[in-house]
Amino acid sequence: LSERLSGVFDRLTKQGALSEDDVKTALREVRVALLEADVSLPVARAFIKRVQDRATGQAVTKSVTPGQQVVKIVHDALVETLTGDEDPGKLKIDNPPAPILMVGLQGGGKTTTTAKLAKRLAEREGKKVLMASLDVYRPAAMDQLAILGTQIGVDTLPIVPGQKPVDIARRAKQQATMGGYDVYMLDTAGRLHIDETLMQEVEDVRNVVTPRETLLVVDGLTGQVAVEVAEEFDAKIGISGVVLTRMDGDGRGGAALSMRAVTGKPIRFVGLGEKMEALETFEPDRIAGRILGMGDIVSLVEKAQQTIEAEQAERMMKRFQKGRFNMNDLKMQLEQMLKMGGMEGIMGMMPGMGKMAKQVEAAGFDDKIIRQQIALIQSMTKLERANPQILQASRKKRIAKGAGLDVSDLNKLLKMQRQMGDMMKKMGKGGMLKQAMKGMF
Ligand code: GDP
Ligand code: MG
Repeated sequence: LSERLSGVFDRLTKQGALSEDDVKTALREVRVALLEADVSLPVARAFIKRVQDRATGQAVTKSVTPGQQVVKIVHDALVETLTGDEDPGKLKIDNPPAPILMVGLQGGGKTTTTAKLAKRLAEREGKKVLMASLDVYRPAAMDQLAILGTQIGVDTLPIVPGQKPVDIARRAKQQATMGGYDVYMLDTAGRLHIDETLMQEVEDVRNVVTPRETLLVVDGLTGQVAVEVAEEFDAKIGISGVVLTRMDGDGRGGAALSMRAVTGKPIRFVGLGEKMEALETFEPDRIAGRILGMGDIVSLVEKAQQTIEAEQAERMMKRFQKGRFNMNDLKMQLEQMLKMGGMEGIMGMMPGMGKMAKQVEAAGFDDKIIRQQIALIQSMTKLERANPQILQASRKKRIAKGAGLDVSDLNKLLKMQRQMGDMMKKMGKGGMLKQAMKGMF
């Protein structure tokens, strides 16, 4: 997909100027990209039309390549569509006790998200939170919430067998009022599909507590279905926001765009895993990059432009494409990383590098380590830097000693240099590297 896009942009770049026809050609590909990212057809169509008008009106800016210009316009339009007036991370939960109603289909991630959000409210905003499970159909569901509550140190409403959801909701409200809670969260039961009984039940609960926030939790991987679910719930219950879960998977997140366009309701948070910490405030920028399937190339290019010399970049790219990536290159990259906000910052932005960034993060990779690695490279001779494969035990010892570090640190550095070299080579073949570095020359 991104290859196809890069292909089109390559052609545009070569022509040097962006005509109306160019815009049309590029946008045809963008349209396909949107549909493949699970954006619904009417939404994609409307979106393309808007971009088309804007792009053609803007004519050509000579200072950037036409391809970049189109990517940037599309990207900005996506961000604009995904951004509302509200601050996604800020829920309306003043006037305690504020009820938050969690709704959605079964398996979407309601219970997990309820606990994640409770933890966040407790830890970041110092709220006293009470959670209650209204899932009377699966006894295990109530236990699930209770277990999560214990795990994160948030209270759950004691389980009373045989009660109906509305009764539990009333009890939660009462307990929240009497217990001096700031927030009480109601985790409702889901169904595999939307049905009348489910809607009626949620509606009854809503009428009992009058929620300050009604958050729809949907599986971000379900694409089109997610949009239908959002429409239904919004029409029948009225939702105030959406939480997209499983965004740690490889869905492209097109559902976010459709949902926003169709319901007008903000995406508030995204779930990025099963762990209790894996909930983040929704960031339009990141999803826009994902929908385009090009990572966050736009901002990578922007940042890189400020810090890398054009010629240097061109030389580097040619070398990388040939699979040459020695310690001098790595040193330059490491220095660049320090400037651009660390390893994670950079790798997270490059398509296909996300996984590596995670490994790197797990290894406790931070600025301090980057500096140590630079020291290791500085401790090498010219010959060694250009040909790291010649490093044998005695050389390794000398280098590590020179940097005041262990041979094991040097081995890690060598492994990283090899891995990055492989990655660069692969990216070079796919045209991805070129796309990523296009802004630099
Ligand atoms: P519910 O039926 O809507 O209450 O869904 P659950 O909260 O029980 O979640 C169903 C499954 O999805 C569980 O195994 C969760 O751990 C998992 N899950 C929830 N959110 C996420 C997420 O953001 N990423 C991933 N990978 N798994 C998630
Ligand atoms: Mg549940």
